[in-house]
This record gives sequence, C-alpha cells and structure tokens, in this order.
Amino acid sequence: MYRHLLMLLAAAVTTTFSGCMQQAPATKAGNYVLVVHGGAGTILRKSMTPEKEAQYRAGLEAALKKGYEVLQAGGSSIDAVEGTIRILEDNPLFNAGKGAVFTHDGRNELDASIMNGNGLAAGAVAGVRTIKNPISLARAVMEKSGHVMMAGRGAEQFAAEAGIEIVDTAYFRTEARWQGLQKALEEDSIKAKLDHSYVPQQDPGIRHNDNKFGTVGCVALDNKGNLAAGTSTGGMTNKKYGRIGDSPVIGAGTYANNRTVAVSCTGWGEFYIRNVVAHDLSAMMEYKGMPVEEAGKAVIKKVGDLGGDGGLIALDKDGNMAMPFNTEGMYRGAVTKDGKIEILIYKD
Ligand code: ASP
Repeated sequence: MYRHLLMLLAAAVTTTFSGCMQQAPATKAGNYVLVVHGGAGTILRKSMTPEKEAQYRAGLEAALKKGYEVLQAGGSSIDAVEGTIRILEDNPLFNAGKGAVFTHDGRNELDASIMNGNGLAAGAVAGVRTIKNPISLARAVMEKSGHVMMAGRGAEQFAAEAGIEIVDTAYFRTEARWQGLQKALEEDSIKAKLDHSYVPQQDPGIRHNDNKFGTVGCVALDNKGNLAAGTSTGGMTNKKYGRIGDSPVIGAGTYANNRTVAVSCTGWGEFYIRNVVAHDLSAMMEYKGMPVEEAGKAVIKKVGDLGGDGGLIALDKDGNMAMPFNTEGMYRGAVTKDGKIEILIYKD
C-alpha cells in the first residue's frame, strides 16, 4: 500500500519535472513549428470531388514540406514563411499569385504582407498587378524600402528596383476564377434589376463564400524562438476598383510578436480590418494572459458577431497552435519538429 503511494508520488514528481524540462527549451530555442492556411469558406464534403481534395492536400503538403526544410536546416521563421507562401502563390488552386480571383473590372490585384516577431519589422504591398510572388515584394518592402506598406504602380516600380520578379498580367489568369467573376457579375445584375433600391455599398456584391476562398497564409516558429507571419491574396471576387482587404494590413490580417503570437487571417476582409483581428488576438494574450486557443476563438466570435466570416491560424511563442474559423471549412495544415504533417479541410 505504502509502496504504491510512494511510486505514485515519484511518478507525479517525475512528470512535473520532465514537463518543466521540456517547456523551458521549447520557449527559448530548439523547437520549430510551421502552420499554413489556404483560405476559409463554404468548403463542404458533399461538393468536393476526391480528385480536387487530393490536389488541395498535395498543395498544402508541398508548402508545409518547403517550410519544414527551411526550419529543419536551422533557417529563420521569416525565410520559412516566405518560402512556404511562394509555393502556394505559384499553385493556381489558391487565391494568391497565379490563380488569384478577379476584380469587378476583370483584373487580378494582389495584396500581401509579412511580419517578423523579432523586432516587429513588417512589410506589405497592396493592389499590385505584375508581381509573380507578392510575398517576396512585401519582404523587400520590409527590408529595403524604409517603409512598411507600398501600393499599386509605386510598389511595382520599387519591385523593379529591388530585383523582384515581374510578369505579364496574363500570368495570373485561370479560367475557373474568370468564370467565378462572370457568375458574381450576373448575380449582381439580377439583384440590381429585382430591387431598384439596391445599394451596392450595403451589400457590396463582393463575394467571400462559394468559390472565392483560397487566400494563403503561414506562421512559423524557428529554433531560435523567433516567430513570423505572412499572408498573400487576390482579395475577393468582384471587388471594386482599388479595394484593399485585410491581408496586407498589419494588425488586421497579419501580425507577429515574439512576446506573444504569430497570426495570419483569411475571410471577409472588411470585418477583419474593422476588428483589427490579428493584433487583437495578440493583445488578448499579452494583456489578459489568454492561451492562444481561447484568444483565437474570441476574435473569430467577434468577427461573426459583426456579420463577417472566416478563420485564422495562430502560433504562440511556445509552439502551441490554434486554427479557429466560423465557415464550413478552412484549408489548413501544420508540421511539427518531428516532421509530422497534419492537413485538415472541413469543420469536423
Ligand atoms: N481576407 C481576404 C480579403 O478580404 C480574402 C480571403 O481571405 O478569402 O481580401
């Protein structure tokens, strides 16, 4: 009896002790984790073919493997985030880089941002039309421009000066996204005909659900304990001339701070800007001491309460992750130090 009690006590002490032993180095150095998303929206099992699902899974896996390769070799979280997002931008399935959605007037206009949790350096680009990998331009803005955010033609001029790859606007076009715009325009004109008091600003006609998802994002923790976050998107189908979403807005769609968390958001951008979602999550952790999972759920609830939808990925300084969303699904995945990859799509 006594022997049993003693053994139990010894086991409890060992568990607590080894728990501490594992925690300490994980926070400071040694651990590395990377999380990606490929957009949130009406992603239903019933409307997905096995082939499509396999393509999405393969796309996310290729991106995760790229990020893992960088982190495993001792690379920085900022390099891992950029490298991972470039893979997703090059994949026409996702609404970023090639395969971006179309604006109301039939163009592809891309937004991206990146942030280093170590020192809070950040870079962003908005409304660019000729940049093959907007995430790399965002990084160049962060490192070489002396600014945080650059937009439109000026950003493209800077890209040329910074040696960033420039492509013809036709590069971004995919037939699926073009058809998505035609459908959105048709629905818009039907609505306008049926209701003469139809005011586009109130029901902007821009579409988040259906086939518009596909924004990509990545958060990473490297073996030196540095966090980084990045997001890249074509925005929302049928967005009006000059509309910029949350993805390039530091604090709304992207945020990273070594003291708290790295965050990348996806969803109806207007609601993410109004809720300053990514920074709000970090603030809840910093000021209220909330765990990442709880803070993630809280900010997504706020988005929902205002009438918005979407999700986010978040990774805290100890390597704990959260991937909350209030849509039917969100393309998402993670890779941990042991190389274990997990990919999820639906709510369950
Ligand atoms: N947040 C992006 C935007 O509003 C779109 C998305 O994530 O689906 O531009």
